[in-house]
Amino acid sequence: MHVFGLLGNPVGHSLSPPMHEAAYDELGLDARYVTFEPAPDDLESAIRGANALGIRGLNVTIPFKQDTLAYVEPDDLASRIGAVNTIDFSGEGPPTGHNTDAAGAVRALERGDADLEGATAVVVGAGGAGRAIAFGLADVGATVAIVNRTKSRAYDLATAVPDASGHGLESLPDLLSDADVLVNATSVGMEEDVSPVPAEALHADLTVLDAVYSPLETRLLREASERGATTVDGAWMLLYQGVEAFERWTGESAPIEVMNGALRSRL
Ligand code: NAP
Repeated sequence: MHVFGLLGNPVGHSLSPPMHEAAYDELGLDARYVTFEPAPDDLESAIRGANALGIRGLNVTIPFKQDTLAYVEPDDLASRIGAVNTIDFSGEGPPTGHNTDAAGAVRALERGDADLEGATAVVVGAGGAGRAIAFGLADVGATVAIVNRTKSRAYDLATAVPDASGHGLESLPDLLSDADVLVNATSVGMEEDVSPVPAEALHADLTVLDAVYSPLETRLLREASERGATTVDGAWMLLYQGVEAFERWTGESAPIEVMNGALRSRL
């Protein structure tokens, strides 16, 4: 049996186990997906132990995404983002580190029919998700404006992402007036009916992705939809980051609709 899993703290409410196990069942793979909650000081020994035990792959979530970089061989994208959310133990050498949040956001937007090459994108948030999404969008040819409550974090990220600019929240209406894509990568809207973006700044030419997936229809997505924008909920990003990890670990094409069904039935 192959073992995959998730390292984080806490991970009790993670939707990754049912999403991945639905894919194993569909493809008849003898595999399990297990959650692990090491103490913060035990991250290195947890990764070494997983390697020694023959665990095939681990996803990584808060609070370990940044610290994991030191204990794996990160690929170019994970190094640039500064965070790992997927570890692959299948090679001969040390485990490798990857970031599938970037592709997760890009594929979610593409599923919403966004044409990202040459697009003007506004990413609100410069934390872990914002970093991954900004690099992901720049890598597929979008011009990215990064907007953050703490302006210095937006400026810092903009210096690392090709062709990006950094701004405070007050610039949102101006930036959105001729934008094609808007992504909320803040935690605003999670469990509370608030939006990080003024409703009047939303318009019908936007594709709007909210990384928040609880609730599925956030206030931002509701207001965007009311103004005729195309909306993409955060479960699509969660799905595609999982699809990318699954395909890397197993070498199989992911049964995307089965994984999507398993995820959405729990949201
Ligand atoms: P993080 O590193 O803690 O960053 C939080 C971000 O939210 C920062 O930019 C922060 O701004 C901003 N923020 C927090 N409260 C705010 C407020 N009241 N007003 C304006 N901005 C505020 O968190 P993260 O890991 O990036 O996660 C952000 C969100 O993305 C979470 O909801 C998470 O669940 C979601 N996420 C979803 C997926 C998915 O697959 N769908 C993947 C990863 C993350 P400051 O810098 O000013 O503090």
